[in-house]
Amino acid sequence: MNAMPRKILVVDDSAMMRSMIRRELEAGGYTVFEAEDGIAALARAVELLPDLITLDVGMPRLDGFTTSKKLAGDNYTRRFTHVPNNRIPIIFVTANDTLEGRQQGFEVGAVDFVAKPFVEGDVRKAVDQIFTLKSNLDGFCALVVDDNSVARTIAADLLRRAGLDVITCENGAEACAVFSDPDKKIDLLVTDLVMPVMDGRHLCRKVRGEFGLADLPVIFLTAVDDQPLLISLFDAGATDYLVKPFVKEELLARVGVHLAHRRLTRELRSAIEALHQANEEIRRMSTIDTLTRCYNRAYLNDSLEGEIRKARRYGRELSVIMCDIDHFKPINDTWGHQVGDDALHAVAAVIIGLVRERVDWVARYGGEEFIIVLPETGCEGATILAERLRAAVSATAIRAAGATISLTASFGVTGFNDMTDDGHVTFDNLIKRLDDLLYQAKQAGRDCVRAGTL
Ligand code: GH3
Ligand code: MG
Ligand code: MG
Repeated sequence: MNAMPRKILVVDDSAMMRSMIRRELEAGGYTVFEAEDGIAALARAVELLPDLITLDVGMPRLDGFTTSKKLAGDNYTRRFTHVPNNRIPIIFVTANDTLEGRQQGFEVGAVDFVAKPFVEGDVRKAVDQIFTLKSNLDGFCALVVDDNSVARTIAADLLRRAGLDVITCENGAEACAVFSDPDKKIDLLVTDLVMPVMDGRHLCRKVRGEFGLADLPVIFLTAVDDQPLLISLFDAGATDYLVKPFVKEELLARVGVHLAHRRLTRELRSAIEALHQANEEIRRMSTIDTLTRCYNRAYLNDSLEGEIRKARRYGRELSVIMCDIDHFKPINDTWGHQVGDDALHAVAAVIIGLVRERVDWVARYGGEEFIIVLPETGCEGATILAERLRAAVSATAIRAAGATISLTASFGVTGFNDMTDDGHVTFDNLIKRLDDLLYQAKQAGRDCVRAGTL
């Protein structure tokens, strides 16, 4: 391994920004040098031969993109014999981080981007990554298709040396077999145009159509130097083309741009996917009562109307149970709020455990009141369930400070079907009826069920 600490040239017109980046990188064991603009950076790059440059984009005298372009020019690269391909890796640190900007940056030689303002550690992470990756193309797999074995070998070797895994085929039909293989993940297709059995254009159409690989970079390498024909390749789905004999740096540069783009698209996709999942989780969480894991009041308000509408439209039965824990206030008053919370949690768990999964649902209606919604269930069936719930709650006890506290609850049950529905059932009168029935249960001495029609 490299015993000498790696040299990083930090280029930024803000002294504060430079010292922030310096602090991070020195903590990571790098030796840091500074330049305050592009002109100074060019001079220092030649003098110091750094292993990597972090480059601000907006700077006086010479901006980052132009500086990067100059560093890629012959009179600089011939001095940079200390780095692979004579190119010093450049990380742009930019306040104006857009996809277009990144695209432009990659074209002028960026290996990565860090957006300002960055979190401490971001720049160091990006720099570390450059040195841990064998190359920017490492880990990608290219499929090279050419019927001419010399041309095939030249392209394949070139890509292999740049760090890609390479698979080769002699014609489009063979390539299709590779695309059909679910174990082979191809990131780049480099294909000849004129080939026996299946030509490059036909292959490209299949890749875009049959195989559905809309984002796969497809680069044509062809000896046919006929511009209208070459342009027509884009209609077949080509990403790019090069006329043989090609300059190897140009192929590598183009492959680099397309794969960087692919990596970005991929990262963007997975970021979007993660965002979707987070949103879904937030949406789910916003319907759940955290203490009892039942649905919350907002969900009940939204969903019970829907259940009523569905039951009416399809002529189905719908029943609803209201449950209220008996003498709950004294539990709180005697044992404290935490024990009250434990009791609520225990009762909710009993209810959730007894209702039909994925059909029935339970919501916390108020402090110690629950609503249990039973689609496709008549009032008789609901009363049987309510009785079972009552028995289960009264068999439940919680422990607090060595004592055992037993619990009971009272229940109101109502519901409707085609026969009893006069078309006036609403959320409000359903709840009102349940309140009445629950009040009757409390009056009758609690720990009991009262059922009635709407
Ligand atoms: P009843 O048998 O007539 O229903 O009497 P009760 O004491 O259960 O009824 P009441 O409505 O008077 O008391 C409800 C209590 O529920 C009052 C309040 O302190 C308690 N409560 C409401 N929400 C919560 C909660 O989230 N946690 C705890 N620990 N207590 C709650
Ligand atoms: Mg109560
Ligand atoms: Mg109550």
